[in-house]
Amino acid sequence: MDTKNIKYTPLSEQRFIDPAILASVLDATNTGVVITDNLLPDNPIIYCNAAFEEMCGYDHDEIIGHNCRFLQDKDRSQESRFKIAQAIKDGENCVVEIRNYTKDGRLFHNELYLSPVKDAAGNVTHFIGIQNDVSLRKKAEQTLQMNFKEIERQVIDRTRMLKESEEYLSSIVETIRESLLVMDKDYTVLSANNHFLNTFKVSINDTKGKLLYDLGNGQWNIPELRLMMEEILPTNNPVLDYEVEHEFPHIGRKLMLLNAHRVELEGQFKDRILLAIEDITERKAVEQRKDDFLSIASHELKTPLTTVVGYVQMMQRLMPENSSEKFRSVVEKTGTYVARLNQLLKELMDVSRIQSGNIELHMDYFDFDKMVRETIDGLQTAAPGHRIVVKGKPVHQCYGDESNLVQVINNLISNAIKYSPDSKEVEIHISRVSSFIKFSVRDYGLGIKEDDLKKVFERFYRVGDIQKNYPGMGIGLYICDQIIKNHKGTLWVESELGEGSVFSFTLPVNPDKKAAYGD
Ligand code: ADP
Repeated sequence: MDTKNIKYTPLSEQRFIDPAILASVLDATNTGVVITDNLLPDNPIIYCNAAFEEMCGYDHDEIIGHNCRFLQDKDRSQESRFKIAQAIKDGENCVVEIRNYTKDGRLFHNELYLSPVKDAAGNVTHFIGIQNDVSLRKKAEQTLQMNFKEIERQVIDRTRMLKESEEYLSSIVETIRESLLVMDKDYTVLSANNHFLNTFKVSINDTKGKLLYDLGNGQWNIPELRLMMEEILPTNNPVLDYEVEHEFPHIGRKLMLLNAHRVELEGQFKDRILLAIEDITERKAVEQRKDDFLSIASHELKTPLTTVVGYVQMMQRLMPENSSEKFRSVVEKTGTYVARLNQLLKELMDVSRIQSGNIELHMDYFDFDKMVRETIDGLQTAAPGHRIVVKGKPVHQCYGDESNLVQVINNLISNAIKYSPDSKEVEIHISRVSSFIKFSVRDYGLGIKEDDLKKVFERFYRVGDIQKNYPGMGIGLYICDQIIKNHKGTLWVESELGEGSVFSFTLPVNPDKKAAYGD
């Protein structure tokens, strides 16, 4: 093109822009442009810009004179092609996306804007095709589509799994023989199992969607319980074994045991609370009957036994000088066994007293080291096979019920001796730890397995395989625990099966007498 003679006028002042300038504008754009002549047979291309050449890979000379269809190669039955044919026939605009092929056979997606150019009489003389290779966009769209499909599939899978988990969970919930409520963070009941509905003789409509505290006649609207329930979600602390005795509608007076936890199902529903309610009225009544029996039986036995103890002591005192060795030994053994019987009975009565809350504490200051020494002396004489070794530092004064604490120390050391038949040593360690006295008994005996560690402090609990070989009633540690609790201390055990055990307790040295003992 000869541009030497072009007279440049600012574009704003030009009425007609020089075709050469227009051609260079078209060549400067990266959008493909073609012009076809509609008045010639087969509507051939009479102009194409550089971007179009670039897009399809053909040279200018290979393009001019051809109908645009050469770009479709053999891909001729696509719908867009018919749309173009129709637009040309009707002399109208159209926008299509059409699959085209470069000279070396590579597919590209061509977004084509086709518009007719008409003469004064309205005849379509030319068509202008504006073309963009949108393959990249197309690919991104396809990837997006695939991702979307994949996400959709994952959502379906996940929903199915959740549904299965929920069904699984609800089948467990229905099978459990305990009343269960699921609540949201505002304590509105979301679901209740059949056991709940049957126990409280209510319908699901009486329950679902209601506030926990509005259920029945407001049975759960207890300030202390509310406080604990409201702590569950913020702190994750469950409500454990909370007893509610109440006159419930339809079912009367019952004792219910409540346990509430925050629930989370695979990261979902994490602001839910599961409340389990167990009717323990019957169980408590049976336990009460057993306790009553224990209390009555031990008191009934106590009176004749006290008389027997008195007679045995009298026999010992009045024994003639010339009595035979055999007779002396029988009276002595009777004395020993009667004293043991008396001790067992005392322990049983202690349990009854603890159960009924009738514990009398005689609190005073006393010499802790001296008390330990005297207790050990007594035990050492009775168990010559073991050596009781005392370690640590003197702690001097202690404030507590001395005879109760003697009972604890006696019990712990006796157990250490009883449950370490094959070892010779029992170690006592006494120390001051901060404002507490710490007392420990270590033995190298049978030890206790993990599962039993907490249970040994329950009343009448004895570790299974030990029961048969060692005498005992399983109440010693229960009493010890209660006594130490009454002194505002703690009793615990560390043990390993086959290695031995360490039972320890702490006692506050200077307890706030008012707060701790109420005297
Ligand atoms: P008892 O000794 O009469 O059974 P306790 O309440 O004193 O009752 O102890 C409860 C149970 O704890 C015992 O039956 C025994 O199984 C276990 N136990 C207690 N002390 C020891 C110990 N030092 N070593 C191993 N097991 C022990």
